[in-house]
Amino acid sequence: MRSHAGAARFAWNWGLARCRERYDAEGRWYSAMDLHKLWNQAKKADGALAWWAENSKCAYQEAFRDLDRALRDFTKSKRGERKGRRLGFPQFKKRGRCKDSFRFTTGAIRCAGTTVTLPRLGTIGTHESARKLARRLENGTARILSATVSRTAQRWFVSFTVEVERTIPERHARPGTAIGVDLGVKTLLTGVDDAGNVVSIAGPKPLRASLRRLRHASRAHSRKTRGSANRRKSAARLARIHARVASVRGDALHKATSDLSRRYETVVCEDLNVAGMLANRRLARAISDQGFGQARQMLGYKTAWNGGRLIVAGRWYPSSKTCSGCGTVKAKLALSERKYACEACGLLIDRDVNAARNLLDLAASGAESQKACGGSVRPGIAGQPPANQEPGTAPAGQTGTVPRQRGTAA
Ligand SMILES: [Zn+2]
Repeated sequence: MRSHAGAARFAWNWGLARCRERYDAEGRWYSAMDLHKLWNQAKKADGALAWWAENSKCAYQEAFRDLDRALRDFTKSKRGERKGRRLGFPQFKKRGRCKDSFRFTTGAIRCAGTTVTLPRLGTIGTHESARKLARRLENGTARILSATVSRTAQRWFVSFTVEVERTIPERHARPGTAIGVDLGVKTLLTGVDDAGNVVSIAGPKPLRASLRRLRHASRAHSRKTRGSANRRKSAARLARIHARVASVRGDALHKATSDLSRRYETVVCEDLNVAGMLANRRLARAISDQGFGQARQMLGYKTAWNGGRLIVAGRWYPSSKTCSGCGTVKAKLALSERKYACEACGLLIDRDVNAARNLLDLAASGAESQKACGGSVRPGIAGQPPANQEPGTAPAGQTGTVPRQRGTAA
């Protein structure tokens, strides 16, 4: 697997060097197909590349495809046709500095539940069972399109891209139910539903324990001399703990989001503030931010699978700073303030519950005005950006983003 990952990295760098040359000279590059042809000539002509045959040809081919995509994303970003941060020209990959990863799209790719069969690598036992997928493959409701193998810390993972036949219900099993969800630091998530119930899911205990270990390990790591063997060891240790935190958190999020999307037709959460996320250097916060994006993504597709929908509040909607009782907005609310105390109406309420309640209210007003095809306005607060619906919540066959609606003052 290391050899395949090395081959993919080599192919990327080899292709990138060719593309860079051509881009500088002619302003264009080679497509994945062109690179594949060039590579086929080069590997036979150059004796130093004789090792290529040790790895599946997919490793090279897919690296060229990835490079092609990266270059296309680069130009799109340059032209302003791509959302998000400006992308630079793709960079060379360095062993140990990049993620070890490669992909298979052709050949014998199978999954039998506890084993995975891949071209060239043969049948490999897996640590976790993939029975669900194996069953779907058996009864023909799923088809594997590709298998990506990657390494995180000391472990190798395989992930399949699968085409699945899924029956999506016309309407959610519990129509009319709604929940506002606040993703927090202290708790994994806090929700308030339309019946007024508070749903609070605390972060799993192993997560808190791992976070503590992570703090210790990163402090220890920072004390090691650069370039030393001890530093390398502590880096590996740090990576292992990071991987564990991510997987424990991911697991808890999967369970929580599956549960929520089954129980509620409409789920509302706040938007992810990417800039703020990067600026935050506190460990716990940074990690919860990571989970935030994950949770939102999960809620997006899981609500759709259940016939429900996810509504994301506008980026600047002050869900935490607004009083859920009277609508007064506080100018400042420190992250350390766990209780929300309203000076206007005297409401004293848990911070997360307050935020979740606001999000739920936003859903009610947002959903109504979406039906009316107008900009939605939260009663009591003028000029707030209204909710916008997530992609993936659109009916099957329709994808893409629903354009953000601008709020108008009532
Ligand atoms: Zn109030």
